[in-house]
Amino acid sequence: MKPETPGKEGSRCVLLHYHEIGLKGKNRPLLISRLARRAELAVETLGAGPVRKLPGRLILELSGGASWPQVREALSRVFGLANFSLALRLPLDLEAAAEAALAQLAPLSVSTFRVRTRKAFDTVPISSREWDAAIGARVQARRRLPVSLTYPGTTVHIEALPAEALLYVEKVPGPGGLPVGMSGRVAALLSGGIDSPVAAWRMLKRGCEVVFVHFHGAPYLSRASAEKARDLAALLDAWQQGSRLYLVPFGNLQKEIVLSTPPDWRVVLYRRFMVRIAERIARLEGARALVTGESLGQVASQTLTNLAAIEEAAELPILRPLIGMDKEEIVAQAQAIGTFETSIEPDQDCCTLFVPKHPAIRSQPAHLRKLEENLAVEEMVARALAETEVLDIRRDGTVETMGFEKAHPGREVKGVG
Ligand code: ATP
Ligand code: MG
Repeated sequence: MKPETPGKEGSRCVLLHYHEIGLKGKNRPLLISRLARRAELAVETLGAGPVRKLPGRLILELSGGASWPQVREALSRVFGLANFSLALRLPLDLEAAAEAALAQLAPLSVSTFRVRTRKAFDTVPISSREWDAAIGARVQARRRLPVSLTYPGTTVHIEALPAEALLYVEKVPGPGGLPVGMSGRVAALLSGGIDSPVAAWRMLKRGCEVVFVHFHGAPYLSRASAEKARDLAALLDAWQQGSRLYLVPFGNLQKEIVLSTPPDWRVVLYRRFMVRIAERIARLEGARALVTGESLGQVASQTLTNLAAIEEAAELPILRPLIGMDKEEIVAQAQAIGTFETSIEPDQDCCTLFVPKHPAIRSQPAHLRKLEENLAVEEMVARALAETEVLDIRRDGTVETMGFEKAHPGREVKGVG
């Protein structure tokens, strides 16, 4: 982020607005800096930037050939933005502002309008009221448009800076939420299904950086689910610019469970192993919580009793942002964020491997622990991790794949508790 310097007059820039609410206190400067950085990252490959700070808002430079439709699309995925506007840069001059206002309104069908001038600093040598009235009067005279101060159909916004004025008419809604990274990091269990991408997205929206962990049924099932997880992580990466996905082969571990436990308990046992493995990854990644796409009562493994039994296997908190949502609501959200189509592609879900049609809905941790006494839990976890692949998905769309050892050289995979 650069200190404030005036841009070239006649050029365009984007004004970025954030919600004041939730931004109070000591965190405020940090939040704003992070939001600015996030916006810069989102548009960097489009040739836009840098971002400068002004009181209460940010300015993104749009020099060079940056295309507004592309920048607009990218900014619509920057959490923390309340709204943003393409603005014209003008000299700090009333006549120039009035001409620009008329030009901006010309292609629009306007019912009523008003002019709203704001001074970025008290020291800016103009009067906002005078500008509003004078520019309003000019537009009214030339376009014969009625003014409405309380319910205007269109508002001409003017931001008066010390050496220039920025003028815009349209406000594009931002995605809201908090800048990614602001709330720390979480590890999200990403299946190939509909729910978990939505759960991960909701955590991104609340300012979490998300590391993705997927379990696939190799060598007993195809890697189709892993391919889907990769596609889903790449889609979700549009909100965080740079993501890591862990692909954990789970088939052998499942086979060991199957050999020593009755069918009814397998799904919950699989889940307990998933959270154990995800927790090891979370600790290596500095993530403070696990995230799943569970929703209360949606399937047998998601009863309160089973959720508690799964949770008991991990020490980190398990966050379930979809817990109170209906399937229809989750599907609508998946469609809105663009993950639905990928999620419904056919795959082979490892959780369906060797499980009965009607698994137990009331598992007791004590009973599960007893069953796990027959299993070499720590070794099974360590073996799965040793065979795990780590994919780094970059902002430019390239992906680097490496083994677990390369991603965490010399790091012992520590157990918990
Ligand atoms: P989803 O649509 O997210 O798969 P679901 O309704 O199918 O959810 P389950 O299959 O019971 O429900 O999975 C519950 C949660 O457990 C998922 O949302 C996900 O967070 C995690 N999970 C399940 N299977 C996997 C997997 N193969 N890899 C990673 N996480 C998984
Ligand atoms: Mg599933």
